[in-house]
Amino acid sequence: MEYFLSEQQKTLKNLARRIAEERILPVRAELDEKEEFPWAIMKDLADSDMFRVFIPEEYDGLGGGCLDLGLVIEEISRVCSGVAVTYAATALGAFILLEYGTEEQRQKYLPDIAAGKKLGAFALTEPTAGSDASAIKTTAEKTNEGYVLNGSKQFITNGGEAEIYTVIALTDKAKGARGASAFLVEKDTPGFTFGKKEKKMGIRTSSTRELVFRNCLVPQENIVGKEGMGFIMTMKALDRSRPGIGAQAVGIAQGALEATVDYAQNRIQFEHPIIALPVVQNMLAEMATQVEAARSLVYATARTIDSGTKNFTEEASMAKVFASDTAMKVTTDAVQIFGGAGYMRDYPIEKMMRDAKITQIYEGSNEILRGTIAVGLRKRKARQP
Ligand SMILES: Cc1cc2nc3c(=O)[nH]c(=O)nc-3n(C[C@H](O)[C@H](O)[C@H](O)COP(=O)(O)OP(=O)(O)OC[C@H]3O[C@@H](n4cnc5c(N)ncnc54)[C@H](O)[C@@H]3O)c2cc1C
Repeated sequence: MEYFLSEQQKTLKNLARRIAEERILPVRAELDEKEEFPWAIMKDLADSDMFRVFIPEEYDGLGGGCLDLGLVIEEISRVCSGVAVTYAATALGAFILLEYGTEEQRQKYLPDIAAGKKLGAFALTEPTAGSDASAIKTTAEKTNEGYVLNGSKQFITNGGEAEIYTVIALTDKAKGARGASAFLVEKDTPGFTFGKKEKKMGIRTSSTRELVFRNCLVPQENIVGKEGMGFIMTMKALDRSRPGIGAQAVGIAQGALEATVDYAQNRIQFEHPIIALPVVQNMLAEMATQVEAARSLVYATARTIDSGTKNFTEEASMAKVFASDTAMKVTTDAVQIFGGAGYMRDYPIEKMMRDAKITQIYEGSNEILRGTIAVGLRKRKARQP
């Protein structure tokens, strides 16, 4: 399919593919098996200016948009989505700063992120606040010295490895979600420690960890936006980030499709390659069609966002839901076509199926996002004469 990417975008996509094939492919099974954080690959991505893609030019970035970021995420995910989410979580961590930060805050943090010297993370989820993010309990009490954070965050990507954390905490407990604010918290801040490191089903090279705040004093100037805006900024940041999860899902599905076509051409049963069987051909055709449909929706959504459209909540949700469901279906069918071999760790297919699952869960579960899409439909209907 021709997606009419610019020359720059084609170059970016090709470069990301080359890094994925040359640097990630040889180590992906080992990284997954050992659950080892991919520091060497983060350095390769930094050396190739990949962290500059989503940072504006005035802060040493390349000024790319949602589609540019998505192209990089897709290509890395085609080989290993655990690496891709490690890269993408830094972008998510930077979105609130990019959109609402002061000039001083941006000057202080963005050039280091662009250079890949510092990874970022975004911390919203807590043990009692997952889908219901408004139930967060972490507090940020204002004092003469700054804000004092107390509480914990759960399941935070890049936890323990990132240097810069965007943390959502309540500055006014009585107001609930309307009393939430966003803070930039540096890794070595006293009172900020790391708890449980999760052992996961998939994306195992990525770090998912608990953050603990005990009387953690954050300087006054590290609040981003105004007090009470934390929840609104979070929702906007997630809208911007969800096509990235869609791109992750498209990359996983594409990788699975390619590996399956290869396998089906070489696997001989009943004296013929199994790709000659109509049932296998039907499955492959369905898989290829779904991957292309998901990619079309993700790219179209990213382009809508890059055009400057203000409200894209439903489109972003649709792209994430459709692409992640596609990744789950395509990888499941891929394992089926591989047969017993697909169940074994000798082939990358079982990893792809494990990796696909999380795309249906994080950054808003698909059940929650279907609800979001439905609310949008009802609002549109209410506006009709
Ligand atoms: C590997 C990993 C990495 C993550 N990284 C981050 C991160 O970097 N930063 C961060 O802040 N968070 C992160 N998360 C948290 C993630 O966003 C949440 O796990 C997700 O939002 C779901 O919340 P939950 O796990 O508490 O599930 P729950 O909210 O407990 O939901 C359980 C089930 O109930 C369903 N459900 C709940 N409420 C409703 C409803 N109203 N309508 C319909 N269905 C509903 C859900 O869809 C789900 O199927 C990560 C999670 C994982 C697993």
